Amino acid sequence: MSSTSFLTRPSPTITRVETILVDVPLKQRTITDSQSSVASVEFVQVKVETDAGVIGWGFNWNYTKGLKAVQVMIDEAYAPAIVGRPALDRHALMQAMNATTHFIGRVGVARVGLCAVNLALWDIQLKLEQQPLWRHLGPCKDRVRAYNTDGGWLSWSIDELVADMQRIIDRGFDSVKMKLGRPDPREDFERVRAVRRAIGDRVNLMVDVNTVWDLKTAVTWGRRLEEFDISWLEEPMHPFDVAAHAELARELDVPIAVGETIYTLHDFRDYIDRRAVDIVQADVTKLSGIEEWLDVAALARAHGLTVIPHTNVQQNVHVQLAAATPNAPLVECCYESIHDIWEDPVRVEGGWYTLPEAPGVGGKLTDTVLAEYRIG
Ligand SMILES: [Mg+2]
Repeated sequence: MSSTSFLTRPSPTITRVETILVDVPLKQRTITDSQSSVASVEFVQVKVETDAGVIGWGFNWNYTKGLKAVQVMIDEAYAPAIVGRPALDRHALMQAMNATTHFIGRVGVARVGLCAVNLALWDIQLKLEQQPLWRHLGPCKDRVRAYNTDGGWLSWSIDELVADMQRIIDRGFDSVKMKLGRPDPREDFERVRAVRRAIGDRVNLMVDVNTVWDLKTAVTWGRRLEEFDISWLEEPMHPFDVAAHAELARELDVPIAVGETIYTLHDFRDYIDRRAVDIVQADVTKLSGIEEWLDVAALARAHGLTVIPHTNVQQNVHVQLAAATPNAPLVECCYESIHDIWEDPVRVEGGWYTLPEAPGVGGKLTDTVLAEYRIG
């Protein structure tokens, strides 16, 4: 039975929403940036069932603990708002879910729960259409260039940093990123110098502070790092301090990148209006889903800015979005040790992602992972 939809064609009706929480260990030693030490990654897997038999899968993630809160948000607020309604009326469903958490969740937990359901709703439509997301959107490229972050952890010694960067470059990557934010910025400086020396001038090098500097530190050390031809300085300061980023952008020549802790189109608008960002690192799993990511990308394009999406551990969705976004030339590659936890893992070879062919969004963990690592 299909239910009445805003569409002129019938839509399957949502019959059930189920969530599964898993905690997946990394298949490598613990990795560290200036904010987190990561030994495992939590995922909430959302399964949306319909009366047409089509099932949509969505997800969200966190690389520390606490995703149980997102699971509760979906189970108790979002699922009741959409069960019994047409699965293809996605904007209406998003509004209905948004309304349930109007007073307690404009960012953070509520927001990432919305995205998990949004991906599942898209998955249903794409499976009905029998095509992957990038083909639905209309591609402007047939593969997507990747940069690699897996070799640049703060917990690596300088020797380990240099060795890992070299291994990555030997695999065909021409762009690498490393973490900064040690208590003494002079150590950061030495580490960047060692890496730049080792990789030469022809490899793009980015640095990522994960928000721990204040403005004075960012101006001082951002300027000093410019001698190493840094492609961008990522998340130098608190992400809600747009004014500080605008001032830093005026002070430095190196492009400023932000986005992985920005949750709304409106917050990106403020960054862009104030010329506080050069590289827009919109992450679909922090925004409310695919529509909002596309809105941010369009806003950036209208201002002549580049979108380079942050990793969300999986990257299938971002690769597909980038393939259909003219101002998204590059996608982050990270957490490769657990790329095989997905049913349709996106492949990176020679520094390029290939586009997936399976219909849907590509956000389903394997049954083995869902069973073996289930915690809720
Ligand atoms: Mg980052």
